[in-house]
Amino acid sequence: NRRDDLGAYVRNPESFPKDVIYQNEEFVAIRDKFPKSSLHLLLLPRDRIKMRKHPFEAFKDAEFLEKVKVEAGKLQKLAASELRRMYGKDSAQEKVRQAALDAHPPPDELPAGRDWVKEIKCGVHAVPSMNDLHIHVIAVDHYSERMKHRKHYNSFATPFFVPLEDFPLKSDDSRWHPEREGYLRRDLVCWRCGRNFGNSFEKLKTHLWKEFGEWKKI
Ligand code: 5GP
Ligand code: ZN
Repeated sequence: NRRDDLGAYVRNPESFPKDVIYQNEEFVAIRDKFPKSSLHLLLLPRDRIKMRKHPFEAFKDAEFLEKVKVEAGKLQKLAASELRRMYGKDSAQEKVRQAALDAHPPPDELPAGRDWVKEIKCGVHAVPSMNDLHIHVIAVDHYSERMKHRKHYNSFATPFFVPLEDFPLKSDDSRWHPEREGYLRRDLVCWRCGRNFGNSFEKLKTHLWKEFGEWKKI
């Protein structure tokens, strides 16, 4: 069953040198094979019991949740430095920073560089399609050829995507009932400017390309 495909990375990370970013005793970090943003990674916990649970259930264990949060934070930083390598150099802000660094004498306080960590979100889907526990570490841009329909987009751009920092979920949280809430059927709303594209995925996608161009350059 393809829904069990992520398990192989956990059992045999050595077999996937291209996909695996790093591994340690408790986690394997990989690249998503069908990225839904310009940078899309997955963190896979190796605990044999936890890894077969729904994330909402697995995260009821406070100690485990804390470990996952710490590790996801590390992967998020790593992803941030990859984004900086991808887009940072020619951003306007980085140019200002570079100019300040090059000045004689340089100013006492340098303009801060862009905080790429803020451009990456960590979380899980309320209804995962893959059975083995995985945490998405994904750039906010939603810029990817692999993003092909409304469900793809809404699974990351609505409360269907549950940020790691929102756990543990309270028992009355509506995200326990994703079907009832119909997140995936909702109108397509731009993650950046909030414009509503109804059900016109093609219009959204054209718009996302434009937003991407601006986002990476800020
Ligand atoms: P879910 O919807 O279950 O939260 O997300 C599962 C993720 O796993 C998706 O983003 C999908 O692109 C990714 N994926 C599915 N199969 C594979 C695979 O065989 N290898 C890798 N690296 N990622 C996969
Ligand atoms: Zn927009």
